[in-house]
Formats: sequence, structure tokens, C-alpha cells
Amino acid sequence: EEYLNRLRQTEPQIKSFLHVSENVMKEAKEIDGKIERNEELRPLAGVLIGVKDNICTADMPSTGGSRILQDYRPAFDATAVQKLRESGAVLVGKTNLDEFGMGSTTEGSGFQVTANPWDVTRVPGGSSGGSAAAVSARQCVVALGSDTGGSVRQPASFCGVVGMKPTYGRVSRFGLMAYASSLDVIGCFGSSVADTAILLEAIAGHDIFDATSSKHEVPNFASQFISTEFSESKPLKGLRVGIISETLGDGVDVPVASTIKAAASHLEELGCAVTEVSLPSFSLGLPAYYILASSESSSNLSRYDGVRYGNQVAAEELNSLYGDSRANGFGPEVKMRILMGTYALSAGYYDAYYKRAQQVRTLVQKSFKAALSENDILISPAAPSAAYKIGEKKNDPLAMYAGDIMTVNVNLAGLPALVLPCGFVEGGPAGLPIGLQMIGAQFDEGKLLRVGHIFE
Ligand code: GLN
Repeated sequence: EEYLNRLRQTEPQIKSFLHVSENVMKEAKEIDGKIERNEELRPLAGVLIGVKDNICTADMPSTGGSRILQDYRPAFDATAVQKLRESGAVLVGKTNLDEFGMGSTTEGSGFQVTANPWDVTRVPGGSSGGSAAAVSARQCVVALGSDTGGSVRQPASFCGVVGMKPTYGRVSRFGLMAYASSLDVIGCFGSSVADTAILLEAIAGHDIFDATSSKHEVPNFASQFISTEFSESKPLKGLRVGIISETLGDGVDVPVASTIKAAASHLEELGCAVTEVSLPSFSLGLPAYYILASSESSSNLSRYDGVRYGNQVAAEELNSLYGDSRANGFGPEVKMRILMGTYALSAGYYDAYYKRAQQVRTLVQKSFKAALSENDILISPAAPSAAYKIGEKKNDPLAMYAGDIMTVNVNLAGLPALVLPCGFVEGGPAGLPIGLQMIGAQFDEGKLLRVGHIFE
């Protein structure tokens, strides 16, 4: 009731949800009944969870933030959602996003613009801006997002919450609307590292419905890595931390860089050995990401043809049915990505763009591998700035893309990364939060969570 009341109070300003479940109190009362009867409770019993609206839910609409799926109701739950229900969680609703995950502000939603709870004149980040804002405004306890190029980590940074992008394949993508399949992963938001760890543990693991999901064993993240007792004065003694030198220079706001340096000193106080490490291919990651993500999306989005899914525009013949349904249903950013992607994939341009971007991807993977052979974790800002004003970059897509520089490389390499609040810069009524990004080796989420928990 407390959460629902807060949701009702704050939602007219924040607008994090596209749909709020009607069953929250009913499900919560069932759990109350279990408590009264002394029945055993499942690990997430009664925990209120927000779910990004590009993740399918059988009992609620799932629009992907797109008008083309305005009335779509999936016949099934995404595997991550099914696992949450099995753990006893209560779904509070579906959160707003940039259409199909394409954007960094949530202004690209086909339905509404979400506001940042720290300053409602600013964006919450994106594309999982609804989930980040909902956790930040305490409209739910934790939330699911998706991260193709930073969509969990950058909004976590802008909204002052914890965001975890797991290793590619750690969480099943079954039921996640595909944006760029080789980069997409479902991720977690929480207001503490411990909450985030519990959520990750609930959704991770192999799934026969996703051939790219990994058979890697899922550790008991919360109990193995989140110990509340660390009485030693240097609990992180011996941990080698590399600050990515390319992330603190040009193009990064000075107050952001100094907040991250202060966070690095805090890690040193905790016992870490902090050194600078260079990732020479770092700046190449951004153009390579936008070529690859657009290329994959142009193929993935061909399924929205007005026949198999969603809204259909009446037409005289088949080609105009496809064309008109898509012209009518997709927003401008999605159309631009489809055009960029089909261009990069077309004969004559393929070698110059798509193939070259794949080569860059290999370079990025190699440079991370080298840096992570000498360091346990790498750190950087999660974004080059704090949350900016709504409308500020709306008509300048290149400026918006440039803001993804800190996060896209991690997706190209398929690595896990944790973002957690590490300070504030000036702005808004109460200051604006800044997120520290910690990047680990594949399937080393446990280490990130442990370090994050101790840091926090
Ligand atoms: N902002 C990036 C993009 O628009 C990343 C989005 C995401 O991770 N879904 O592609």
C-alpha cells in the first residue's frame, strides 16, 4: 500500500509507467495469507518489481514503447518474468522506454516522456528510463531493464540508483523484444547492490528457449558475495583496479571526472591498488556500435509488418499494408536506425561499414581482455555528464549518441558491468547523482557485486 500510494502521488509528474497492474494488492494479500498460515515464503515474496515494457508479460500489455505494438498482449511471459513470478515477486507494472530501446533519454517513447525524480525538468536517461526513475522515486523496490549499449547503466547513473548489466548470455533473452541480438541483455535496477544481486540471482541461468543463454553455473550472488561483515580496515586489499584513461579526458564534464577520481581514492582507502590503464580502441567503439546495432535492428524490426504483430493500417494491396503500417507505427528514431542499418548492410557498402565495424568489435574485445588480465576490475564514469534537460539533445541525435561513449564498448565485448552512485554534481534542486561504472571479466558478476557492496 505504501508503494502504491507513493506511485499514485508521484506518477503524474514522473510518468515512469506505461501500465500499472491491477493485481498488486490481490497478489500481496495472498502473500499476507501465507505469512499468517506460517507457510514457507519464496525468496522474492511480495517484492514489488517494475518491468521494462520491451519485456513480454502475459497479463499486461507489452508495447516496447512503440505505437506499432500499442494493443499488443503477448501470449507468454519472458523467461526472466516467469522466473520472477516463480520467486514470489509481484509485478507492479510496465515501465516506459525509448521505442524498442533506441535512445538515451526516454524522450523517444511513442507514448510519454519520463522525468528524472531528482529534477523533473531533466531526463532520467534511457532507454530504460522508466525503470530507473521508478526505483529512484521508490515506486517499486527493484526493476528490470535491458542493456544493448548502456540502457541500464546510463539511466542508473542519471537517477542515482544501482544498475547491473550482466555478461551477455547470463540472462535469457526469451521474451525480450530484440533490438540488436548480439548485444542485448536483460539487466537489473535496485536501490542497493544487495537488492540488485538478489534480483540478478532470480533471473539468471540457462534457458532452452534462448540458444545464446549460457550454461555457466549461477552463483548464489547475494549470500556468496554480499557479506555484511567486513571489519578489516582494508576489505579490498590486493584488488587491482584500472581506471580507463580514455574516459577521464576530453568530452567528459570536469565535475564528473573529479567525482570518479574521488571514487578511485575511496577504493584505494579500501585497499585496492589503483592504476591507469589505456584501451587504445576505446573511441572506435562508438561508431562501430551504432553501425552494428542499427544493422541488427533493421533485420530484427522486419517482423513488425502489420500482419504478425500489432497495429495494421487498412490498405488495398499487400505492399502498402506493410509500408503504411510501418510508416504509421514507427517513430522517427526507429526509422532512422532502420535506414542506417539497411544502408550499412547493403551490397557495395557492407565491406566499408558492417564488416569494418565487426573488425573493430574484435579489437575492442582484445583490448578489454588485455586490460582485464592485469586488473581485476576496470572503472570509468557511466556517462560523460549528469542528467541533462528534457529537450536539450532531442533534435541532435549525434550529441545523444556521443553520450553513450562510456557504455557501448562493454556490450561489444559482452562483459558484465555494475553502475552505482558515487557522488553528486551541482544542478537541480538537490544536486545531480553521478554513477561509477565497474567492468569485470566475463561471468565475474560476483566480484563486481562484492566490490560494489563494500564501496557502497
Ligand atoms: N542509447 C543506445 C542506443 O540508442 C543504447 C540503447 C540500449 O542499450 N538499449 O542504441
